[in-house]
Amino acid sequence: MTHGATAAEVATALRSAGRVILATHTHPDGDAIGSLVGMRLILEAVGISSRVFVADQDLPLPEELAVYDLGDVVTEDTVDFSDRTVVFLDCGNADRTPLGPRLGEIPVLINIDHHHDNTRFGTMNFVDASASSTAEIVWLLAKELGVPLTPELAEPLYVGLLTDTGRFSYENTTARSHAMAAELIDAGVDLTGVRRRLYEDVLPAKLHLLRYALDSMAIHGDGLLVSARVTAEDFAAAGATEAHAEGIIDVMRVLRGVRVAALARELDREPGTFKVSLRAADPTVDVSAIARFSGGGGHPQAAGFTTSLDDAEMAALILAELAAQDGAGGAA
Ligand code: AMP
Ligand code: MN
Ligand code: MN
Repeated sequence: MTHGATAAEVATALRSAGRVILATHTHPDGDAIGSLVGMRLILEAVGISSRVFVADQDLPLPEELAVYDLGDVVTEDTVDFSDRTVVFLDCGNADRTPLGPRLGEIPVLINIDHHHDNTRFGTMNFVDASASSTAEIVWLLAKELGVPLTPELAEPLYVGLLTDTGRFSYENTTARSHAMAAELIDAGVDLTGVRRRLYEDVLPAKLHLLRYALDSMAIHGDGLLVSARVTAEDFAAAGATEAHAEGIIDVMRVLRGVRVAALARELDREPGTFKVSLRAADPTVDVSAIARFSGGGGHPQAAGFTTSLDDAEMAALILAELAAQDGAGGAA
């Protein structure tokens, strides 16, 4: 698989960019925000000013990510693409952004990402599927551009690395990811602060939501698949918001014998529609292929899609896809 552009070519393109807009996927996660904030600081260090695009529907950001300075954010109404270079970070396909239909207006579109199924929708594509996170690629680009790591830059990159590797527990965690962590820690990341903000300091609503999720837990296919779902009603009863669902899947993924975990959460803005998170608990399973079958995507070990299927229908579909993978030469 080709990377399209090299890191050096991307660095050259960024250095010569005029006015830059930085964008990411809708529902921005730790890697999306970490990469945006990191890239903004890196460009600033080489004398290039940029503005961050975030869709109206994604604001305000989840509390734990809202602490980072995105500067003067542009949204659908205020964004102007003429003469701009748009840098997409952590966005595997144009459909994952409300800017999708407007891509044609963008003269220079640099697509920097780590999704193996990235559709290469940029005019320049730098896709490194061996990177744990887009933050890992942004860290490499900082080196390429000769930008030193400051505590201010290191922390958001660390957040991207930590969240996309599931705290260094998914298969995408490599020696390079740990080397990056070591450099960022040396540069002054407040590890205790980050850990508390992202994973501790939990409100009762989050544990109540976990309770509802576990209450709905079902095991399918002789223990190969564990699923759970939280409805809008559960969210309301728990006093929880969508961000509180973060991490529930990791509780389910560790079940003995399980190869795939699926958590479905009902979307507040679309009753009856569920956002499904998939995690592989077996390195031979590719959950992104399962997600893609249902119109989503992601990584072999962590992927997602949206559906209106009920739990039994969703489980049947996942098990069928799993069997198809095994038939195609996957694990026995
Ligand atoms: P999540 O379960 O939301 O943490 O998502 C896990 C990974 O799956 C993310 O890093 C995304 O790359 C990918 N993903 C989630 N939802 C979608 C979707 N609807 N379309 C494409 N990729 C997705
Ligand atoms: Mn992401
Ligand atoms: Mn990512």
